[in-house]
Amino acid sequence: MKYAILGDIHANLEALNAVLKDAKEHGVTHYASTGDVVGYNADPKACLHTLRKLKCALVQGNHDYYAAINESMELFSPLAQKSIRWTRKHLSFFERKYLRNLPIIIDIEDFTVVHSSLSNPRQWNYIFKRKAADASFRNQFNPVCFFGHTHVPLAFIKEKTLEKGLYETLHIRPGAHYLINVGSVGQPRDRNPKAAYAIYDLEAQTVTLRRVEYDIAATQKKVRAVGLPFRNALRLANGR
Ligand code: ZN
Repeated sequence: MKYAILGDIHANLEALNAVLKDAKEHGVTHYASTGDVVGYNADPKACLHTLRKLKCALVQGNHDYYAAINESMELFSPLAQKSIRWTRKHLSFFERKYLRNLPIIIDIEDFTVVHSSLSNPRQWNYIFKRKAADASFRNQFNPVCFFGHTHVPLAFIKEKTLEKGLYETLHIRPGAHYLINVGSVGQPRDRNPKAAYAIYDLEAQTVTLRRVEYDIAATQKKVRAVGLPFRNALRLANGR
């Protein structure tokens, strides 16, 4: 069984469709997402609809949560706030209810999925450093946990020591614990503009990071056409 693990899609339908095509070509049959389906780009409805059609297991990201409620957003940058206000206006009552009711952590097979961290997941902390990874590992009961939120693919491995590094293919060793950021489908921030996602092959026990080209200009034009901040469009070409 092969799972595609999709992170931070952020309403980028062109990137999502390119990734799903790549996943199919690689024999993926199941889907899970580390959240932030909406926000920043222009296709929140279509992205939600696509994931629901695929029966994608989904956790709630901070953008999903804030798009679904009416609270103020002082934790967000002004551009992110503007994007969330736009998203609130363009989702239906039922779409917002669906986002509001998403779980914050899910366990599937032998892995866990969360948006930010297993340590106080509603504080939406970012895991870049070993210390933050270690706090998450203390709450990890499966060998593998996938997360998102930073939009930067990165793996932490805890055996006797805690290792951190970039990855292309990880071989899951019995006894070790893995905390794996799958990067972002819809707004990569590691200076590589290609859409990122990971394939988890449960039989082979491998996690492979995939990078996929998509029609960035089409997404940029939509962002501009609907009146979302230009910066949301510009950053896609730079991957940051
Ligand atoms: Zn995000």
